[in-house]
Amino acid sequence: MTSPVNQAAMKLLDAKKIVLAAHVNPDGDTLGSIVALALALKKLGKEVMPLSAHGVPDIYTWMPGMEMVHTETSDTDFDLAVMCDAGALNRVGSSVLATLLSAPFLIHIDHHVTGEKIGNIRVLDQKSASTAELVWKVLVAMENISGKKLLGKEIALNLMTGIITDTGSFRYLNVTPSTFITAAKLQKLGAIPAPIGELVFENRSEGAVRLLGRALKKMEISENRLVAWSALSADDFKEFDATDADTEGIVSHVRAVNGVQVGLLFREIAGKPVRVSLRAREGNDVNRIANVFGGGGHYLASGCTMDTDLPTAVKLVVAETIRQVKPPH
Ligand code: 5GP
Ligand code: MN
Repeated sequence: MTSPVNQAAMKLLDAKKIVLAAHVNPDGDTLGSIVALALALKKLGKEVMPLSAHGVPDIYTWMPGMEMVHTETSDTDFDLAVMCDAGALNRVGSSVLATLLSAPFLIHIDHHVTGEKIGNIRVLDQKSASTAELVWKVLVAMENISGKKLLGKEIALNLMTGIITDTGSFRYLNVTPSTFITAAKLQKLGAIPAPIGELVFENRSEGAVRLLGRALKKMEISENRLVAWSALSADDFKEFDATDADTEGIVSHVRAVNGVQVGLLFREIAGKPVRVSLRAREGNDVNRIANVFGGGGHYLASGCTMDTDLPTAVKLVVAETIRQVKPPH
């Protein structure tokens, strides 16, 4: 039996017009994955349409090829669809989902593994730190099968950004020897990690930095000192002219308090349901907490959406987190 990686590579090489989808609230991994694939497919003379329902946040616009990304399309004549890093079909947004499902064949490339079987070919590996590393494997297979050189600096920059965003610059527990091996190959192609880390993590608007200050000022800690949380209101966002993308990374500061095992960040975005980010230290599983509220993600990093007002969301998720949290051993 051919491996899913080779099956995906062959299918991509055969296709003519391909739509590629990222998840909503896109990060460097989902965007880097779809655009790396799009760049390679374009090189092969194929028509590509990378879609991100929420567009490209400012911190990722420098990535090569991001100008190809659209929020939606009216085209329905794709012969292949690819979904990267989304976990579940409903995480690409409704218009993008309709386009994905209009194609006769779907490839799902992901390191979120939920048990839900999506698409016709699945390149899934929960142990992979990023989806970008799985895309790397598919691209290498495409080179081997086609005999054409596809990998270069532009693709490497996209994939390295995926790895850097999903590993917090190689600091998280998801990093494996294989992460470093792939990263080493990407650096050899010209993707140097340090400037990418700086562009992604230290390239914030003044409002985003001030919003971090507000979140830290509002932080609360449970009586047992195991859970810390902060809730940003629509007024906070308005005051600093900030968007949800500006909250990236804030939850890690909340979890950084010594002794705290789970950090939560609630965001009330005007006109949208409340979003929650959950982050754990090793030994706690925030995916299980997010599942209670219809969300998901990974063991140490998950998210969910709440159809309540901000104070109710805080009350419900904090109570569930305190119920589930385990002290370190
Ligand atoms: P974040 O807190 O950065 O939004 O998300 C952390 C992780 O949880 C990411 O891997 C993301 O894909 C996943 N995630 C966030 N929100 C949701 C959600 O509503 N549903 C599911 N299934 N996963 C989510
Ligand atoms: Mn990812």
